[in-house]
Amino acid sequence: PYKVELRNVTKTFESKKGTVSAIDNVEMQISPHKFVSIIGPSGCGKSTLFNIISGLDEPSDGELVIDGMNVNGSTGLVGYMLQKDLLLPWRSILDNVILGMEILKKPKNEAKDIALPLLEKYGLKGFEHSYPSQLSGGMRQRAALLRTVLYNKDIILLDEPFGALDAQTRANMQEWLLDLWDDFQKTILFVTHDIDEAIYLSDEIYIMTARPGTVKCRLKVDLARP
Ligand code: ADP
Ligand code: ADP
Repeated sequence: PYKVELRNVTKTFESKKGTVSAIDNVEMQISPHKFVSIIGPSGCGKSTLFNIISGLDEPSDGELVIDGMNVNGSTGLVGYMLQKDLLLPWRSILDNVILGMEILKKPKNEAKDIALPLLEKYGLKGFEHSYPSQLSGGMRQRAALLRTVLYNKDIILLDEPFGALDAQTRANMQEWLLDLWDDFQKTILFVTHDIDEAIYLSDEIYIMTARPGTVKCRLKVDLARP
């Protein structure tokens, strides 16, 4: 379990109009195993934030600190899942779900023994040997979530994972995600445009704004969880 901290993180880009700051002076402290949502409109810097936490990009200023250590670049600790997380169309659901474990050089039989009960538990029994195109959107997202979780990362970044799903499937996915979070004890950072979803799922919510000409305000809300 790792604590994730951003200390005064700023990221600027050079463009024709001069220097653009995508995020500035972001402070975050995320304790291990928390479910943290980040809400804000397009352009407020959510992708930039995730790119920095995952090590895909580096801050222009400030520090990313994981487990008390100043981090530059990728730590291998952070898993990233996008809104349309692509399952590989030529691999079965089972082979997609064990992909991360294969990358980690786990023997295929062991990987399958781990994955099969989870596929059953998360409503994918009978679809192990189907291909992604044969599944509904909700089922594909669950497979992608399982793949991300099984890739043995402590910190999982979910960028609007349910954005493309209908309301009912989305509600179901929220329950699956909370179950997965309970089972695997990961730290989850979740980007959504849906404030109800954020309130329902989270321990903490960070709000980001993108008003031009203002200092971007960031407010952290702590929610009591039963
Ligand atoms: P969000 O994911 O919340 O929509 P982004 O992190 O993608 O926000 O972008 C935040 C701001 O930074 C936007 O104004 C965007 O135009 C700018 N930005 C992001 N990436 C770049 C880039 N590579 N070059 C120039 N500007 C960028
Ligand atoms: P979920 O919210 O669990 O993704 P869906 O509404 O997508 O639910 O699907 C409901 C059920 O319908 C699934 O659990 C599955 O049993 C069945 N189903 C969905 N898509 C297919 C398919 N392509 N072929 C066969 N059964 C399917």
